[in-house]
Amino acid sequence: MVRTAGKEAIAGQKMQRTSNNHSKSNMRFAQTGFTELLLEANNLNAGEFQCWAFCPGMQFNSPHKWWGDRGPRDFPHEGVDICLYEDRSGQVHRLDEKTRIPVMADGVVRAMFKDYLGQALIVEHDDLQGGGTYLSIYAHARPREGLRRGHAVRAGDIIATIADTRHSKAKILPHLHFSIGRPSPDLAYENFVWNIMRDPGRVTLLNPMDAIDGPWRTFDPEDMDGAGL
Ligand SMILES: [Zn+2]
Repeated sequence: MVRTAGKEAIAGQKMQRTSNNHSKSNMRFAQTGFTELLLEANNLNAGEFQCWAFCPGMQFNSPHKWWGDRGPRDFPHEGVDICLYEDRSGQVHRLDEKTRIPVMADGVVRAMFKDYLGQALIVEHDDLQGGGTYLSIYAHARPREGLRRGHAVRAGDIIATIADTRHSKAKILPHLHFSIGRPSPDLAYENFVWNIMRDPGRVTLLNPMDAIDGPWRTFDPEDMDGAGL
């Protein structure tokens, strides 16, 4: 699932605690249990996981890349990139392409389409926790064999694994791009492509950090030099 500690752990551990956000939000999907489901699906529960680690470029709405030259993105980030986590000894690990992706809540698979690192899946959640219809979007992934549009899924069902990005042009670490949105009432899912997510007339993107429902902190990418970021 993940790199083990020791020589395979990411170098450069003097990561600053630029923030330490372990608080739960008041948003209604703060209790998705998504982090717990992700840890369970990948056997990371056995005392290893402490918190997710995000540099600013991985976060929602960021104008910056966190790979390559770390220059500007073409569009503000539509979600959050779940890639790194810290264990209880403070060591940072990354998710790899064997990482299994559970669905956040009961719903229906509405779209599956190619993105530039793999495939993206959109799951529609009807009246999620009494708050209306939401979409959870899992991108840069490899969908589970046999999974199709229209399939009903339950919270925790494994719908994909993280795509292998070793041969990508961007040479970016494998990661789960995770978005949360509210669909417009007349949103059509046929021929869905990434750009549709960016159209506020069709999808209202929300900050997915609340839906992750787990502890996280940010770090300065300068502290990760040598880590392949
Ligand atoms: Zn992303």
